[in-house]
Amino acid sequence: MTTTDVAALRELLPEGRVFDDPDVLAAHSRDRATFCPSGTPAALVRARSTEDVSAVLRWANDNRVPVVPQGARSGLSGAANALDGSVLLSLEKMDAIVEIDPDEQVAVVQPGVINGDLAAAVAEKGLFYPPDPGSRGISTIGGNVSTNAGGMCCVKYGVTGDFVRGLEVVLADGSVMRTGRRTAKGVAGYDLTRLVVGAEGTLGVVTEVTVALRPASAQPLTAVAFFPEVAQAARTVTGFLAAGHRPSVLEFMDASSVAAVQQIADLGFPEGMAGMLLVQSDIGEAAPAQLAAFEEVASATGAAEVVVSDSAAEGELLMQARRLVGDAHEKLGKALLIDDVCVPRRNLEEMVTGLNRIEAEHRVQVLCAGHAGDGNMHPVVAFDESDPDETARARQAFDAIMALGLSLGGTITGEHGVGQLKREWLGRELDQAGLRTSHAIKRALDPNDILNPTRVLPGG
Ligand SMILES: Cc1cc2nc3c(=O)[nH]c(=O)nc-3n(C[C@H](O)[C@H](O)[C@H](O)COP(=O)(O)OP(=O)(O)OC[C@H]3O[C@@H](n4cnc5c(N)ncnc54)[C@H](O)[C@@H]3O)c2cc1C
Repeated sequence: MTTTDVAALRELLPEGRVFDDPDVLAAHSRDRATFCPSGTPAALVRARSTEDVSAVLRWANDNRVPVVPQGARSGLSGAANALDGSVLLSLEKMDAIVEIDPDEQVAVVQPGVINGDLAAAVAEKGLFYPPDPGSRGISTIGGNVSTNAGGMCCVKYGVTGDFVRGLEVVLADGSVMRTGRRTAKGVAGYDLTRLVVGAEGTLGVVTEVTVALRPASAQPLTAVAFFPEVAQAARTVTGFLAAGHRPSVLEFMDASSVAAVQQIADLGFPEGMAGMLLVQSDIGEAAPAQLAAFEEVASATGAAEVVVSDSAAEGELLMQARRLVGDAHEKLGKALLIDDVCVPRRNLEEMVTGLNRIEAEHRVQVLCAGHAGDGNMHPVVAFDESDPDETARARQAFDAIMALGLSLGGTITGEHGVGQLKREWLGRELDQAGLRTSHAIKRALDPNDILNPTRVLPGG
């Protein structure tokens, strides 16, 4: 894209939308993924309306210019990274909560609304928006929809896609499509909403989202259990859930993650443990019995210590500790490659014990935390980027973790998406018919391949 092109784009849009200052572009060129090079964009457009988005896409389609939709760029797969000559299309300024309807228990929002802001706004009306990615304080609903983001509450309530009723989407040619519904049920036609959810900006740009809400749940009770072996923690997860319990949170942290968190906030966790589970129950008067059942399973599988908290403040502190894991890992001062495998829960034990093997084989540190109740783990390969040999081994360990996840009947990504980082691995997960169908959908919706090209689908 040339300077003239940027001038043409500027002419199409109201003032103050198009930026091409190199520093501004550089600051918007990357998400948070490691090992994902970013290109040099030609312009950044800060859209403020559906019309802006439509005008940009129509123009880009006519001129075959790649467009990279961006929310808060908190993604972990390189899917929001700039491509050479691309337009970065930021939705952050489209940040209005259009409506909260307590009777129908739905909210309508623009894509740039921050997840935590929506959750807080509906809570004021006694309602609950459950999807709670660890990035909820920074990530946008548009980004959450486009990655089908999960989080800690998902073990009970489901992921972002389970709450999306309908969308407004601008297609590659600039036309505006409304999908889905506002009603509790609706099966009219193909489920175009589901097609766009998790598409990582490759099929259209989301400009409005209608989400389902729930009544606020009861104040949760919290427990933590510490285990001498990670296998015991995994067995506790499987046993507790197989007994029919639906906790609102069931999270895992390994010893290194607990130690890293303790460096930031000393919560007095016992030393010498291999793993920890954090569980919450939000079923009111029945919560103590549910946590007692958790304690029973954990003790039977070998927990060294189980602590049930009777204070909401202490429970929140423990949740904060879990949310600090990302920051704590970063403070280790190493480069991090974050995996996102999700396996059937009965194979969780093989997953977590397999990590020790991978760590030893590739001689890199592998830490692990994750949404154990969903079987969705985030093994993190920590390595010294200045050492080429260690960097190569880190990439091999990252790949070995995905291979292990697939061999256990799981998926390469439970919530972070494929993006740039795992494209080739998508080719190993899908069968030939699935790949063919995916490419056909992409061609049908974006024949000129302008929407986030070279992301998600392998090849090309
Ligand atoms: C500390 C931390 C914790 C995290 N915890 C979690 C977690 O618990 N669960 C989880 O799922 N993820 C987690 N993530 C990853 C990330 O926050 C999520 O993927 C999030 O949904 C990305 O939102 P975003 O607004 O930052 O989107 P971006 O990173 O800007 O974009 C993500 C993808 O969506 C596309 N996109 C963005 N907006 C639109 C739009 N309006 N229309 C079309 N496409 C669009 C982009 O092109 C890109 O493909 C975490 C990240 C961090 C840094």
